[in-house]
Amino acid sequence: MAGIANFASLRRTRFVKSFHVLRFGLIALFIAPVFAQQAATPAPAPAVAPEPPDPIKDMVARLDLEKYKATIKGLTQFGDRRQGTDRNRAALDWIEAQLKSYGYTNTARIKYDYFPTDPRRPSGPAARGASGAQGGGVIKGLRAPTGVNVDPMKQPDEKLRALNTQATAPGPREDVYCTKIGTTHPEEMYIIGAHMDGHGWGEAANDDGSGTAIVMELARIFMSPDIKTERSIRFCLWNNEETGLNGARAYADQRVALQGKEDPIGSGKYPEPKWLGMIQHDMMMFDHGAPRADGTVSKEQRPEADVNIEFQSQAKFAEGAQKLAWFFQAANEAYATDYPAAVGQHMTNTDSTPFMDLVPSISLRENERGTQIGAGWDPHWHQPTDVFATFSDKDFLLGLNAAQTTLGAIARLTGATLAK
Ligand SMILES: [Zn+2]
Repeated sequence: MAGIANFASLRRTRFVKSFHVLRFGLIALFIAPVFAQQAATPAPAPAVAPEPPDPIKDMVARLDLEKYKATIKGLTQFGDRRQGTDRNRAALDWIEAQLKSYGYTNTARIKYDYFPTDPRRPSGPAARGASGAQGGGVIKGLRAPTGVNVDPMKQPDEKLRALNTQATAPGPREDVYCTKIGTTHPEEMYIIGAHMDGHGWGEAANDDGSGTAIVMELARIFMSPDIKTERSIRFCLWNNEETGLNGARAYADQRVALQGKEDPIGSGKYPEPKWLGMIQHDMMMFDHGAPRADGTVSKEQRPEADVNIEFQSQAKFAEGAQKLAWFFQAANEAYATDYPAAVGQHMTNTDSTPFMDLVPSISLRENERGTQIGAGWDPHWHQPTDVFATFSDKDFLLGLNAAQTTLGAIARLTGATLAK
C-alpha cells in the first residue's frame, strides 16, 4: 500500500521537478548526485534492446546500382527486342545464358505461337473510368499524348535504327524462366516476372529493360550459395507483352493445371509448384511528375518519386492481392534506401493480368499505369528516346529501390536464410 502511495506522490513531484531538471540541465545531475536523487529525477529511459540482426538486410545490400545498370545495358545491345525478330530471340538466348551463369541448371522455356490476327483480347482489361483511365482509375490534371512510335526515321542513331530494322513475323515464340527451389516447401512458389520484349525504335531500356534487370538481379542474388529459401521462387521473362500479354497468358494457360503435382511421384520434384503470388515489374525508372501546360515533363527525377504497387480491385483474387501489395509496401519501408512505395487498386496492362483471377497478383511500376502513364507522365514510353543514355542515376536508383522492395518482400515470404 505504502509503495503505491509513494508512487502516486512521486509522480506528482516528478512532474513539477522535471521542469527544474530541464532548467538546470543534465550537468546538475552529475555535479550534485545527492541533490538529484532527492529531487526525484525521472528514471533513466529503459535501455532500448538492440534490434536483432536482420539477415534480409544483408541480402538486399547485395543489390548494386552499377550491376543493375550493367544488366540493363546488356539488354539494350539487342535494341528494342521486338517480338518475332532475330534481335528478340538473341536477347532471350542472352538472358538464359546469364541465368545459367548465376548457377541455374533448370532454365526452361514456354513455347507458343503468336499470330497477330488472333482474336485474343488486347492488353489489359476493358474497364475504364469516366476519364478514360485503363484499369478503372480517374485521370485528373493535364495530359500529354501517348502512343507507339512506328517511324524508323524518328530514331536519330543510325546504328540503332539499323539494329531495329528487321520486321516482326508471325510464328513460334518463347518465354524463358528459372527456379530457385525451396528447401522445405519446393511444392509452393512465388512468380517474379517482367517482360523482355519492347518496341518503338529505341532500346526498350526502361520498358522493360528496367524490370527485366530487376528479375535477373534477384535471380542472381537468390542463387548465392549461402542463401536458402523454404519456398520456391520462379523468375520469368515474358515475351509478347507489348502485343497483348501473350507470353504470360501462354504460361498461365499451359501450366495452371500442373500446379503442386509431384512428378515423377516420390521424386520430391514439382515441375510447377503451387502459385502463391505473382509479382510483375514493368517500367521502373522514370517518375518525373505530371506533364505541364506546354506538354513537357521535368528533365529531373522528382524528389517525391515512388514505386507504385498496384493490384486490380476487380480481380477474383483482389483481397489476397491487396494484402500482398501492402506486404510489399511494408517491405519497401524496411529495405528500400531512397524512394517510398504507394499502393493503388488499378493494376492493368501488364503480365500480372493473366494471373489475377488465378492467384493474388500485383505489379510494380514507376507510376500508376492507368492514371499516370496513361496520362503521358513518361514521354519516353514506346518512343525512340527509351535508350540507356536517356536515364540518370536518379532514374536507375528508382528501379534499384523497386528491386530492394521485391527482394525484401520475397525473402520474407519464402523464409529466406543466410548462412553465416
Ligand atoms: Zn512494359
